[in-house]
Amino acid sequence: MGMNQCGGCKLIFGSLGAFDKHRVGEYKGLIYEIGESGRPTGKVLGKRPSTRRCLTVEEIQAMGMTQNKQGWWVEGLSEAEKERFSRMRSKKVVTE
Ligand SMILES: [Zn+2]
Repeated sequence: MGMNQCGGCKLIFGSLGAFDKHRVGEYKGLIYEIGESGRPTGKVLGKRPSTRRCLTVEEIQAMGMTQNKQGWWVEGLSEAEKERFSRMRSKKVVTE
């Protein structure tokens, strides 16, 4: 299990999945013109600013995440899921 500390809010997450969930919004990029066919024409209309940000602790809790003993934020079912996955993995190793 790796440690995923956010460079922005300094919170530590127990999984990459949990880390990803606390980052919302869009990366900055270009806005492309959409043609009549519904596909981009290749013409750039402008730039889109980055709206990426970290969720607040209240928002993280509202998503069902909890802090474990080490103070890392983990997804609600992650402990049980991890156990299930490790069981699946060890089973696979045995049968192969
Ligand atoms: Zn963060």
